[in-house]
Amino acid sequence: MSHHASEDAGRSAVSLRSALQSLPPYKPGKSAASSDAVQYKLSSNENPYPPLPSVLDAVNQVSPQMNLYPDMTCQAVTEAVANRWGVEPSAVSFGSGSVEVASQIIRAVCDEGDEVVFAWRSFEAYPILTGLAGATAVKVPLTADERHDLPAMAAAVTERTKVVLVCTPNNPTGTSVTADELHEFMARVPSNVLVVVDEAYVHFNVDPAAARGIDFFREYPNVVVLHTFSKAYGLAGLRIGYAIAPDYISAALRAVAIPFGVSNLAQQAALASLAAESEVEERITALVEQRDHVHQQLTEQGWDVVESQANFVWLRTGEHTEEAEQIFARHGVIVRAFAGEGIRGSIGSPAGNQTFIVAAQDVLNHLNAATTPSNGS
Ligand SMILES: *Cc1c(COP(=O)(O)O)cnc(C)c1O
Repeated sequence: MSHHASEDAGRSAVSLRSALQSLPPYKPGKSAASSDAVQYKLSSNENPYPPLPSVLDAVNQVSPQMNLYPDMTCQAVTEAVANRWGVEPSAVSFGSGSVEVASQIIRAVCDEGDEVVFAWRSFEAYPILTGLAGATAVKVPLTADERHDLPAMAAAVTERTKVVLVCTPNNPTGTSVTADELHEFMARVPSNVLVVVDEAYVHFNVDPAAARGIDFFREYPNVVVLHTFSKAYGLAGLRIGYAIAPDYISAALRAVAIPFGVSNLAQQAALASLAAESEVEERITALVEQRDHVHQQLTEQGWDVVESQANFVWLRTGEHTEEAEQIFARHGVIVRAFAGEGIRGSIGSPAGNQTFIVAAQDVLNHLNAATTPSNGS
């Protein structure tokens, strides 16, 4: 006997949590469409390099054991990360990507109606994770030069604030906060508010004045640092990231984590990546050079583009964003467009970056034509 929905008429459907209704959708970077044109996917801040041979070996060695659960405690990689940063293993906890770790933090700390303060625009997962936890997002606009407005963020902290997310370098603008700014901020924020320094792009940050999350973790009792293997280490597809946090926070994060959420493949790949740090460094250096090259070319074209300390650049295309996205697409470049705001283009292969530069010139020509009154069109 079939069981169509219509036969269920009159029965009431399961009611979903009201928090789901107000969630903005997470928009992943578009995939390269199947077409004959060369396509460069510069929409997800992925690392353009293939896995290092030693990392691939490590993964291949454990892949015959995929019938087994991974080590839920991530013991080996916990020790390696603790060693890498000179912290106690008890301070390190993992998740399937640092997005999951950010989610753990909010779920571990926030009750219904508590507030999470973050800059806006920033990482689009923040309002989703906050809303899902039943907490309230407090978005503090970036400054005119696309940076975190830390004094305004400190002023936005209320009795209900439990967490402040500081994204540095900021996704999608690439700007980073300085150590001086973050110290001033910490002095203003009560110590029962958790300050999360999301450093997904820290490896690309060459600004000597930049805040380093680990220094703040060492100095303040209410700082958590988030790192990921997705970007600089090129393991986005394996899902592994971690927090460095005070012990009682780390214990709470482990308690709310999805059991066995980090696969053995991911753990082994992360371990092998940490063991290959000098090779990873070479790639980071090359990507930083490419980023600075792209930035310089865009500036020469006439773009007013802020300095990026990440593996992407940000073009404030405003109301012309959708048009700009289409022009990039015509050149075979897939970018991440934030309607009404701007375009984020990831640093990819040299060929991809070159195509991005050519397309950006084309976009600029279109925008100039559209805004020059004498043009008559
Ligand atoms: C990419 C990114 C992350 C981490 O992503 P995972 O793949 O889940 O580790 C975290 N924060 C920001 C700001 C990011 O852009």
